[in-house]
Amino acid sequence: MRVLVISDIHSNYTALETVIKDAGHFDSVWCLGDVVGYGPDPNACVELLSEQPNLVCVLGNHDVAALGRMPKESFNADARRALEWQERVLSASSMDFLKTLPQEYIPNEHVTLVHGSPRDPVWEYILNTLAARMNFDAFDTDLCFIGHTHVQSVFHYDTATDRVQMDIPQVGFPIKLTGKNILNPGSVGQPRDRDPRAAYGLFDTEKLTWEPQRVEYDIESVQARIRESRLPEKHALRLAEGW
Ligand code: ZN
Repeated sequence: MRVLVISDIHSNYTALETVIKDAGHFDSVWCLGDVVGYGPDPNACVELLSEQPNLVCVLGNHDVAALGRMPKESFNADARRALEWQERVLSASSMDFLKTLPQEYIPNEHVTLVHGSPRDPVWEYILNTLAARMNFDAFDTDLCFIGHTHVQSVFHYDTATDRVQMDIPQVGFPIKLTGKNILNPGSVGQPRDRDPRAAYGLFDTEKLTWEPQRVEYDIESVQARIRESRLPEKHALRLAEGW
């Protein structure tokens, strides 16, 4: 089975639509949370995502915030402004979708899916090998897919040496996965690794290969909608910078 793995769509419909087209054929979609927040198209993103085959989606911190389950004070001023706008526009069916999302999902014997980290599924960032090492003890499958950092990355755990290696994988080159790995497909709707192209990955459940991908999308059209919605200007600018 070929699985499209995506994360951190952040209400960016144009990026999501482009990724889905670019991915070609896939049998299933695993989404690692933060469907909403920041961007101008929360309802359209939920709708398009819901239409995808064999969709599995876990809960991100921005999804939790949209559900009103946490104090808005824990977000920075711009994120908070976007949240208040989103509260006004989110449809009842989008809210219903977000309410169904689990914090963790195990789609098969090899794989755990979370937004942040296996030991703190919604909030912890795995940005370096130390954070990754602490988390390799916190899941029982060989592979754990994460999002949240918006950085396309692979953490490989070498059990013989008890060391973790971090790789920024080369786009378009499938990696054969062995042993324990934590894999991040990067962010569809708001990349933060200085590469503004939308990020995603393709996972083959039989061959156990992982293929990180990037694709250009029409950033200007999204920026225009951010400005029309009077969302923070910073959210528009950062899309072009990939930060
Ligand atoms: Zn995010």
